[in-house]
Amino acid sequence: MQTKMLINGEMVAGDGDPIPVLDPATGATVAQVPEATLEQVEAATRAAHEAFETYCLTTPADRAGYLNAIADVIEENVEELAELETLDVGKPWPMARDEEMPLTIDTFRFMAGAARTMTGSVAGEYAAGHTSMIRKDPIGPVASIAPWNYPLMMAAWKIAAPLAAGCTIVMKPSEITPLATLRLGELLADVLPKGVLNVVHGRGASVGDKLINDPQIEGISITGSPATGMAAMRAASNQIRHVHLELGGKAPVIVFDDADIDAVAETIRYGSYFNAGQDCAQPCRVMVQDRMYDKLVAAVSDQVSQIRIGAPKADGTEMGPIVSAAQRDRVAGFVDRARSSCEVTVGGQVADGPGFFYQPTVVANVDNDAEIACNEVFGPVVTLSRFSGAEDALRAANAGRYGLASSVWTKDVSTAMKMTAQLRYGMTWVNTHGMPAAEMPWAAMKGSGTGCDMSVYALDAYTSVRHVMVAH
Ligand code: NAD
Repeated sequence: MQTKMLINGEMVAGDGDPIPVLDPATGATVAQVPEATLEQVEAATRAAHEAFETYCLTTPADRAGYLNAIADVIEENVEELAELETLDVGKPWPMARDEEMPLTIDTFRFMAGAARTMTGSVAGEYAAGHTSMIRKDPIGPVASIAPWNYPLMMAAWKIAAPLAAGCTIVMKPSEITPLATLRLGELLADVLPKGVLNVVHGRGASVGDKLINDPQIEGISITGSPATGMAAMRAASNQIRHVHLELGGKAPVIVFDDADIDAVAETIRYGSYFNAGQDCAQPCRVMVQDRMYDKLVAAVSDQVSQIRIGAPKADGTEMGPIVSAAQRDRVAGFVDRARSSCEVTVGGQVADGPGFFYQPTVVANVDNDAEIACNEVFGPVVTLSRFSGAEDALRAANAGRYGLASSVWTKDVSTAMKMTAQLRYGMTWVNTHGMPAAEMPWAAMKGSGTGCDMSVYALDAYTSVRHVMVAH
């Protein structure tokens, strides 16, 4: 198994302490991956700093060539990379290969095209005898830090956009799921000029902290929890850095009386338990208009009770384990604290056997301000609560700190338009939930972050607008 890091074009073993990587389906240790020392992190940031001097001068067509070459390499190695994701995160097979990898590859192919769309506004004379032009130039070396839920896809979001913009990168995957990203680093060692992409391994408190505070870094780009986002903002405030954050979510699913019940229940069965619910856009907080409430509780409970959990490669597995014992216990804690005031209609227990399994769970009769309705559980748990009219639903949905994903379910166009205009979420779907498209922004508001990943707007985080004026 490939456990080395990529620093300045060379594959090097970490000189720090080994961090065990566990198979969440069995709890067994599958690899010991040595952490980078602070000197090794510094070597990586120096390499990114030096490589920036030439990489920033590449043409958009050059960068598109690199991005398409990365997509080709992932495509050629798709089976192996998806296997590593399944081993690392416990993702059911073949979903890991057939649903996530195409999006990962498409991220690079889209950004190959996006690199060539970056044009400034027209040049012109805004003072007599002077011509002005607007440039959009890369900000410099970027520290890209990814979470454990979709390790390779999140790495793709954190690599493709900065490369397209002309930035160099030091990438750090999550210390608990590093395998596919470390292998990608090896696969790309000969694809990119040395130092353009560096991959280091280690914990947030050591390697991550060193990265976001390193003086050679100009941008910090993190997908992770709000606590990590706050650490990044604090670090950035010491040296004035660009910060791009995609943090957690608590997605309301607002279901009006006229909605298609079966479509809602089927979407929840698939979307809320995909990746064992460890998804920042997970449709997890179902808010139902009074008249529809009992029917929807029954329909959702019926669908969820049919979900087959099991080993990632067992036939028919729809949902695998949770990534770690700590995360499973965190999920169980939310459900246990809710029991006295709510009704657990499905699941609600740690599942039998080895590994970190938790039953797909539905919690009904949840107050809109209950802990489990307002905080990110990040596991296979859906709550159902009531509302009476659009104003109530908006008030409850907009009250929390999160502002990532949301959806509205109704056949009435004017209700849908009112809700989509007033929900303070970076993404709102109508009569569906969570559908991604590389061309569209994965956007955050409020405590869910700043800016977006995917789409041409992702390039804004990695570029500065500049004014050049020529006197003549
Ligand atoms: P996390 O914040 O614990 O870790 C994310 C990454 O940050 C890891 O690589 C970790 O090592 C690093 N890190 C932790 N502390 C750090 C520090 N002080 N300095 C620098 N780096 C540090 O998050 P997680 O538990 O890995 O992932 C789950 C979270 O990610 C959830 O809140 C989820 O909603 C969020 N997430 C958001 C999106 C999105 O697009 N908005 C996508 C996926 C996951």
